[in-house]
Amino acid sequence: MSIAENISNVLKFIPKDVKLIAVSKTKTVEEMKEAYDVGIRDFGENKVQEIQNKYSDFPSDVRWHLIGHLQRNKVKYIVDKVHLIHSLDSIDLLNEIEKQYGRKNAEAHVLIEINIGKEESKTGIFVEQLDNLINAVENCNNIKVQGLMTVIPKGTPEENRKYFKEMKTIFENLSNRQFKNIKMKYLSMGMTADYKIAIEEGSNMVRIGTGIFGPRNYNNK
Ligand SMILES: *Cc1c(COP(=O)(O)O)cnc(C)c1O
Repeated sequence: MSIAENISNVLKFIPKDVKLIAVSKTKTVEEMKEAYDVGIRDFGENKVQEIQNKYSDFPSDVRWHLIGHLQRNKVKYIVDKVHLIHSLDSIDLLNEIEKQYGRKNAEAHVLIEINIGKEESKTGIFVEQLDNLINAVENCNNIKVQGLMTVIPKGTPEENRKYFKEMKTIFENLSNRQFKNIKMKYLSMGMTADYKIAIEEGSNMVRIGTGIFGPRNYNNK
């Protein structure tokens, strides 16, 4: 199936109030333009370098989402480019974002990434570290947290559901608190294999790569 057909299939399962991010890592500008031509404006990339490479090939109505781990020394390259950073996962990174966005008098929009399955191989903070990070966010001037993101462990649909439910509970709890720099707008969870369950459990932002663009080609970066 073509990219356009894949998108129209995926959209059948996505309610209007859920945002679709087309995850385009390793994909060519030509492939991404097929998605752009059928209306996709939100693209997700894992690497700062890849956003830099592709950025000028698209009109300014494209919204770039950084969904992979962000190294502190790369923050300075994304200040004017990235619409939403999904992967705030440490106070050190927070401080660097504050510094680099402050320099340009810009406001960073970020999601806090939670390692809900407490997997060693994954980035994101543990729930127990959330309050510390929140306190640090509240001391910032150039950062707005707009929600939460997670990549759940691989598992059965029922295991997935449990993690999505836990995320939704955290999201709701934070929604009921008052903050200066934090507003729970986006709950970014669900990928090709599990986005339908994620939406059932309250996701309002899904990140779909393979389901739109087909298998990734890691030789073709
Ligand atoms: C690659 C990636 C996705 C998309 O994964 P698919 O299974 O291809 O849909 C979503 N989120 C993150 C953080 C990713 O790195």
